[in-house]
Amino acid sequence: MPFNPPLLVALAALASALALACGRPRAVDVTNEPLTQTPDPATSRREAMVRHQIEARGVADAAVLAAMRRVPRHLFVPPGLADEAYADSPLPIGHGQTISQPYIVAYMSEALQVGKQHRVLEIGTGSGYQAAVLGELAGEVYTIEIVAPLGEQARALLERLGYANVHVRVGDGYGGWPERAPFDRIIVTAAPDHVPPPLVEQLAVGGIMVLPVGEWYQEMVTLTRTTDGVVERRTIPVRFVPLTRSPAP
Ligand code: SAH
Repeated sequence: MPFNPPLLVALAALASALALACGRPRAVDVTNEPLTQTPDPATSRREAMVRHQIEARGVADAAVLAAMRRVPRHLFVPPGLADEAYADSPLPIGHGQTISQPYIVAYMSEALQVGKQHRVLEIGTGSGYQAAVLGELAGEVYTIEIVAPLGEQARALLERLGYANVHVRVGDGYGGWPERAPFDRIIVTAAPDHVPPPLVEQLAVGGIMVLPVGEWYQEMVTLTRTTDGVVERRTIPVRFVPLTRSPAP
């Protein structure tokens, strides 16, 4: 066909007219789109949190980093603090308690070396955020909270988010959860002044426990149970709320 500019222009106009007529309308009604397709505005804030607060301080476990990128931390803080959820600090969650700083959650999760083959016990459910991160990494998570309204709120949120492998119980976690023992991993997110012996008993041989220990001055302790006893390693100085005890019956 000979080169014919007017014909080409006409064909192009026809093509775009057809495209407009047949194409999807520009204004898409999103109200019926499934939730998973709506962009999560917190995704980029989580990405920044992982890069600048967690990877930058040396946490490198790929599964832990992926879990920290996935769990919607802003849903675990009081609604008025949602804007602060990805900040580099702990936040109040009511009842004088706090949700831990993101880095500390990642640090403890990495130290715990959790895999899908593991059953994990957590003492100090609080907001349920650490439990959700563990729910991403572990097979089953058992978590105990002493403040009933916090435990109930965390249970409801974890259920709403689909963490069917996370089981919340309200009570004093000092004595562990004997009916579900032994555990491959144990994490305590409130500070006792000594390692609670019932938790050591409920740790499987070959298992790892990570917990802050101390009163005013606290250190993170990583404890491994071997056939000969326990090996304790003290790592970083930390500041957690104290592990409280329910009054003896
Ligand atoms: N892991 C939590 C951090 C919670 S702060 C999170 O991700 O949000 C510590 C929590 O431990 C508080 O909620 C506190 O009420 C709880 N706690 C303190 N002593 C406890 C005990 N003896 N048994 C169970 N929970 C306890």
